[in-house]
Amino acid sequence: MSAAVLWFRRDLRLGDHPALLAAAGEGPVVALFVLDDALRRPSGAPRIAFLYRTLRALDEQLREHGGALTVRYGQPENVVPAVARECGATSVHVSADFAPYGAARDERVARALGGTPLVRTGSPYAVAPGRVTKGDGTPFKVYTAFYRVWAARGWRAPAASRPGDVTWRALAGTGIPEDPRLPPGLTLPAAGEAAALAAWRSFRRGRLDGYASERDRPDLDTTSRLSPYLKFGSIHPRTILAGLGPGDSAFRREIAWREFYAAVLHFWPDSAREYFQPAMAAMPYATGKAADEAFAAWAAGRTGYPIVDAGLRQLLAEGWMHNRVRMIVASFLVKDLHIEWTHGARHFMRHLVDGDLASNQHGWQWTAGTGTDAAPYFRIFNPVTQGRKFDPDGAYIRRYVPELAGVRGREIHEPWRRPEGLPDGYPERIADHAKERSESLANYQALRDRS
Ligand SMILES: Cc1cc2nc3c(=O)[nH]c(=O)nc-3n(C[C@H](O)[C@H](O)[C@H](O)COP(=O)(O)OP(=O)(O)OC[C@H]3O[C@@H](n4cnc5c(N)ncnc54)[C@H](O)[C@@H]3O)c2cc1C
Repeated sequence: MSAAVLWFRRDLRLGDHPALLAAAGEGPVVALFVLDDALRRPSGAPRIAFLYRTLRALDEQLREHGGALTVRYGQPENVVPAVARECGATSVHVSADFAPYGAARDERVARALGGTPLVRTGSPYAVAPGRVTKGDGTPFKVYTAFYRVWAARGWRAPAASRPGDVTWRALAGTGIPEDPRLPPGLTLPAAGEAAALAAWRSFRRGRLDGYASERDRPDLDTTSRLSPYLKFGSIHPRTILAGLGPGDSAFRREIAWREFYAAVLHFWPDSAREYFQPAMAAMPYATGKAADEAFAAWAAGRTGYPIVDAGLRQLLAEGWMHNRVRMIVASFLVKDLHIEWTHGARHFMRHLVDGDLASNQHGWQWTAGTGTDAAPYFRIFNPVTQGRKFDPDGAYIRRYVPELAGVRGREIHEPWRRPEGLPDGYPERIADHAKERSESLANYQALRDRS
């Protein structure tokens, strides 16, 4: 008996799944996942482990409904047509991918499938990238204008996909690999659709009301922590948006940032690697041994600036970092250490469980003053005042920087001022913020004078 193939990618769930509905409409469904080295290679162990755990959770869900996940290894343009032939597929169903690699891969697979159609239904976004444009059809470069049109356009209600009603078929496969070796002490969130839904419900019950006023406070941990689940599609943003009320616009706006950056990357695929504002590529950046050493100190969370170090150590410990602190550490790398944003973006992509090309590269470009929006280069985060403002008692710093755990009160933000000196083991500052800030501003002015 023939079947339809549902090729899972960034939609690792069974609920609210339009492509699953479309596949099930044709008959029995083969649930396929392809282990593709082109995507595995740039991912660090934390994201790979989280992916494998998400796949295991999906496989268990399928087994509860009499199916199983068929996992194959290789290039999708070879694997997908082979699976389609094996089960006599009438078509292959996917949620559309709009990122540069995914879109090109899907074109190759569609060609390789020959007469078997690759059917794209839905996407990882509430509104598919490309749909929200200015009146003349050109893309938005500024978030606020994008948001207005995106919010007015609206989105569909969650799809009622019912996995229990589907006849699942499984083929032989390689199985889901063992987790890679993880750095000692790393803690990852629970994976899978049930965990995503539980995280969403717990956020909505407990923290959503205070989100607008407290979202910038890393010490309070008040954000949703949904980013790893959104990354792999364990929950669809539509499910989240459907649960928001009119008073939840601060949270809706953050979901929209993810949609905005996906749209920007769709229209400007080169912006994953290249400067969104090309003129900014001419900024002078530090290179050589001293810059390498500064980068290594930054990456290890040993810059001597407590909030910066806490953030980078949170990244190593959890594969995640609070958004405010992502901005602080990114600004510090680019504007205090004068190191190009691409190096920081690569470090983030290796360690983040939620590492997402669109949000990460554009989050970096925004902070570096090279990206969308009028985020001006001369907005330079002061790591001391940012720490005082957003981690007032230093609780966040103490959580991740044990050398500073015994430092009481607000002097934790400037431990070099303590009469008794730095606590044992905590590094001297690797840069003087006031001096480096002036240098960055002078470089920027020189660039403007030249252009
Ligand atoms: C330098 C830098 C790099 C970043 N890299 C990534 C990345 O690789 N992957 C990623 O998902 N986010 C990235 N972000 C955005 C943001 O930091 C995270 O989405 C957020 O911290 C995730 O935590 P949360 O789920 O608790 O967020 P919440 O505050 O609860 O927000 C809910 C959701 O909205 C979306 N969102 C919120 N803020 C942003 C934003 N500024 N840009 C895009 N989407 C947003 C995310 O999907 C998030 O899960 C980056 C930001 C910066 C400044």
